[in-house]
Amino acid sequence: MIMPDSSHMNEHRSTASHAGGAATLAADGQGMAEAARLLAAGWLVALPTETVYGLAADATNPVAVARIYAAKGRPAFNPLIAHVPDTDSARRQGLFNAPALALARAFWPGPLTLVVPMSPDCTVCDLARAGLSTVGLRVPDHAATRAVIERLGRPVAAPSANRSGHVSPTSAAHVLADLGQGIDAVLDAGPCSIGVESTIIACLGGSPRLLRPGGITRAAAEAVIGRKLVDAGEAGAAPIAPGQLQSHYAPDAALRLDADAPVAGEAWLGFGPDPLLPADGPRANLSARGDLVEAAANLFDCLRRLDASGARRIAVARIPAHGLGEAILDRLGRAAAPR
Ligand code: AMP
Ligand code: MG
Repeated sequence: MIMPDSSHMNEHRSTASHAGGAATLAADGQGMAEAARLLAAGWLVALPTETVYGLAADATNPVAVARIYAAKGRPAFNPLIAHVPDTDSARRQGLFNAPALALARAFWPGPLTLVVPMSPDCTVCDLARAGLSTVGLRVPDHAATRAVIERLGRPVAAPSANRSGHVSPTSAAHVLADLGQGIDAVLDAGPCSIGVESTIIACLGGSPRLLRPGGITRAAAEAVIGRKLVDAGEAGAAPIAPGQLQSHYAPDAALRLDADAPVAGEAWLGFGPDPLLPADGPRANLSARGDLVEAAANLFDCLRRLDASGARRIAVARIPAHGLGEAILDRLGRAAAPR
């Protein structure tokens, strides 16, 4: 029998957010220590960077990362940028080729995100990478935030701290207006200095590719690597940005969604109390208590484990379409897509 590993659930409180709303922490020693403590316990803290305020969570903890998607109301699990305090930390998470290293040396700390292959020692969880074998890394140019991450001793996943589809926040007041009830704290260090998002460049072999323009100009990046950046959509460029990919992590097994029960030969991926489970055969449950945050945290692990069982098809129980259910169903729909 295959069951999701729920050991990482135990150290955290229930998934309910604070009734009283987010605490505002000053960017002093005490505030930074409290921010690191909350992050270590799996909670969400908005952190300032030189670009925009980011909604940070411990990138190694899938429950904490699931809370980011829930708080933002994101309809899909796109990969999140992992923020680290320095280039050495980044090189423990990802494999840097020559152009990646040159870009890191030229622009970190700063508004540049590098997408590189994950290293064998990468601790950024599957959910934060959206199941990709690459990792997006950045060293932000903000001393208080780097100090918090250094104190935490783990990378933090941090998309912009606004509700999905809203404008990016460049002050603590923006963060509180948008997410004040859904997060645990904001570290207030005043307005952001750049206000536009980081430039994202993928260094995955071949020519580095510009995935998103941002705070570092194309010309400045090209001067450092000594050649033209290829555009993400350019002819001959293989797709890698999330929206361009039908299936980032597709199991080898086929998927059958909205199932009542597995038929012979199928593995079973349940959700909620599951009295109909067959006595044998590979099976997993995304969340026996029907919690969508827990389900999101377990999703990739469950799919991989059921896939490893060798079953040709995985039957998936009905999952509610509200809250994180929408992103879970989006992911399962991609995994089920014909390929
Ligand atoms: P943001 O909303 O500012 O956090 O932007 C996150 C963006 O970073 C995503 O939409 C991706 O385009 C990009 N990104 C992060 N990690 C990866 C990755 N591993 N592979 C490809 N793109 C990534
Ligand atoms: Mg954003």
